[in-house]
Amino acid sequence: MIERSQRIQLLPKYLFAKIDEAKARAISEGVDVIDLGIGDPDIPTPLAIVDELCEAARDPANHRYPTYEGMLEFREAVADWFRSRFNVDLDPTDEVLVLIGSKDGIGHIPLAFLNEGDYALIPDPGYPVYKAGVILSGGITYPLPLLSEGGFLPDLDGIDRDVARRAKLIFLNYPNNPTAAVADIRFFERVVEFAKANDILVCHDAAYSELGYDGYKAPSFLEAKGAKDVAVEFHSLSKTYNMTGWRIGFAVGNPDILAGLRGVKSNLDSGVFRAIQYAGIQALRSGRDSIARAMAIYKKRRNILVNGLRELGWSVPVPGAAFYVWIPVPEGYTSASLCEALLSKAGIVVTPGTGFGEHGEGYVRTALTVDEARLAEAVKRIGKLKWD
Ligand SMILES: *Cc1c(COP(=O)(O)O)cnc(C)c1O
Repeated sequence: MIERSQRIQLLPKYLFAKIDEAKARAISEGVDVIDLGIGDPDIPTPLAIVDELCEAARDPANHRYPTYEGMLEFREAVADWFRSRFNVDLDPTDEVLVLIGSKDGIGHIPLAFLNEGDYALIPDPGYPVYKAGVILSGGITYPLPLLSEGGFLPDLDGIDRDVARRAKLIFLNYPNNPTAAVADIRFFERVVEFAKANDILVCHDAAYSELGYDGYKAPSFLEAKGAKDVAVEFHSLSKTYNMTGWRIGFAVGNPDILAGLRGVKSNLDSGVFRAIQYAGIQALRSGRDSIARAMAIYKKRRNILVNGLRELGWSVPVPGAAFYVWIPVPEGYTSASLCEALLSKAGIVVTPGTGFGEHGEGYVRTALTVDEARLAEAVKRIGKLKWD
């Protein structure tokens, strides 16, 4: 056997692959599994977006290689959307880059900026791709603990000064996965100051920017004063328009940073199928009705789970955005042992907080991506459990 590279060996096993295995085992044993594990919307993509794809797919002009940075029309739609949503101006020629889903940009940007041994600051708990991207580029990850007492924001003053000086990149993500925490402009402005003082590039992951409850509208990092000097922001159509399988997202912000990412990507991929970009334009120009409908659905589900668990005596905070509930584990359990118990005794898949980093200990993450009846059934099963 030819040995795999050290970089690959350093990668943690992709979290959701591991959970899939445990789930498959339970299903093969005949368990009626309720899967609250993966953040993948069960609501279909709005029909107008699907129709646009079908139509664009029939046009032979769309069958050839697309441009690397995305069609100008797509980038203009992004700039228009950004102006109306955040009141931030973007130059579509060099401040917008199409991505094969935001994971593409997040995973690849460290390759453009890190040298062997450079530090990258990553949220812990956090979306696993930040760490993977850094490891694959030979960088060193330095965890930023996201703790309940800090509102799940990193403590910038607590970062080792030497590490801050040696760091080249910081990942942030608000509204946050997995904690469902949100951040305000004041926090973003402190990050800009920190980044400028230490020559650090800010990568803000805004995959859940549109998924606020009760009219909450998350700010863009680029609304912070001076942000465009140091930052790029990753956006995704996946969660906003239930398009996870389509693979389209975009990065916006500092043109030099985007050019670095484009330089990596132009050597690895050949852009996004033009028909999908047309569908993306349709999505961005479609207004907020479909988003509001989805949020109404998530809100009902959220209330069933949160209220149901509270009635069972669990202390569960109400998330203000995204479709996750970050649940503190009851006493006597760890993240892993609760997940294990929920699967083996109740047929419920949840994600251990530790799968997102060591500071996720003490929590499990549930995704509100199953219907109300299944969530009510999950609460019922948990209520019947003997917690010995
Ligand atoms: C889902 C998710 C993404 C990736 O979305 P894409 O489908 O690749 O656009 C990025 N960041 C976070 C935090 C996510 O949860």
